[in-house]
Amino acid sequence: MSSKRNSKGRRHPIGGLLSGLRPLACSLSLFSLLWPTVLYPLTLAALSRRFGKRTAARSGYEPSVTIIVPTYNEASLIRQRLADIAAYEYDLARVEVIVVDSGSSDGTADVVETVQREGLLPRLVLIREERRGKAAAINVALGRASGDIVVATDAPTLFDPQALARLAANFADPSVGAVTGDFRIPDQSTLSQREEGLFWTIRNRLRRLEAELDSTPFLSGEMCCFRRDLVPLLDEDTVADDMNIALRVRPAGYRVVVDSVASFSEPRATSFRELNVSKTRRAVGGIQELFRFRRMIFRPRYGWFGMLILPSDLLYYLPVRPFALAFLGSEVLRRLAKRRASPLSAIAVAAAALGIHRAARSPAVRRAMLVALFNEWIFLRAFVNWVRGHYSVAWTQEQSTRRLADGAAADSGQGRTDEWAL
Ligand code: GDP
Ligand code: MN
Repeated sequence: MSSKRNSKGRRHPIGGLLSGLRPLACSLSLFSLLWPTVLYPLTLAALSRRFGKRTAARSGYEPSVTIIVPTYNEASLIRQRLADIAAYEYDLARVEVIVVDSGSSDGTADVVETVQREGLLPRLVLIREERRGKAAAINVALGRASGDIVVATDAPTLFDPQALARLAANFADPSVGAVTGDFRIPDQSTLSQREEGLFWTIRNRLRRLEAELDSTPFLSGEMCCFRRDLVPLLDEDTVADDMNIALRVRPAGYRVVVDSVASFSEPRATSFRELNVSKTRRAVGGIQELFRFRRMIFRPRYGWFGMLILPSDLLYYLPVRPFALAFLGSEVLRRLAKRRASPLSAIAVAAAALGIHRAARSPAVRRAMLVALFNEWIFLRAFVNWVRGHYSVAWTQEQSTRRLADGAAADSGQGRTDEWAL
């Protein structure tokens, strides 16, 4: 068709080719916008309803457990973390706790020694080492762990008291290699925390569907429970130890599942400035791990996980949507400018604009828009940082979450934007 135009001398061949590609580019842009937001969740829900597997959990199944708590300058939180473990509804004689402290300068290890002397936990081990990152610290503990099941967790995290028993019960199912629970954001008084609250409500649900269908790559480092013999060591260069574990478990032939009853909580940063840094780092870790385990993508031997879940999660991490949206917007404007838009499409665009304007009156919709925009920004930053190698296993700790969990941040008011009423 373009050659016909060429013969009349109206169009350059490359221009003709480009305009021939326009419909394809439009379709791809639309697809990249609709797949992660609407189509993937619907597809997952339909497929997991049809093909989903329930986990054959058996309550009362109590394997031996090693809980690993890596710490770097957590003196304000480590006692609370250990006291939380001491209150679990589980036979504590079967629970070994290993704290790996990477040369904290705030006396974290001394607090652990005090707790040891107090006998709060029957089997509390402290390992001191030089700082080489969180994954390296977990590796040190894995080398010493005696439990059949390992639970890696963070210092600011708290579990529901029944969670450990629930997690353990899932391993009665021989297909289960790793389990996590539902993430609850405890304090949602600032806008950044409410953003995370909604973000995790969505993430919890999506990963549960992925797990029901096959397996999820989104294991939470806060509650990261797995069969010890499946994960002898982590890659020490990782900034997403949790995803590194999830992506090791699936090729070994086991599933990573979610037990929603086993909930856990961890405070989130009180300001967007801080959340921006920590979320970008976690997203870089996600890209790093999906890239490391890319051999599983579109491999039929990994079932739904290889053919649907991993490719969709990769698409989710790639910052394509801002460009797709910009391209579609420019196409609409171009057509309007050339007066080639049909009246119908002009009406459709106007109706969409009006619909968005109206919907944005609802706080729930505004919050959903905030989640979408903020996360697209994070993925863009994360991709650039990953390409440039701007990340480190020795990352900087969030300050507001440490103060929060310490009960001292509530009055800081940092990042409060309550007048937005989202
Ligand atoms: P996030 O949960 O991904 O936001 O990461 P955090 O900065 O909160 O760290 C999670 C856990 O890993 C906390 O218990 C930290 O103290 C611990 N951690 C972070 N870096 C290191 C490290 O270099 N060595 C050790 N041993 N623990 C670390
Ligand atoms: Mn954490």
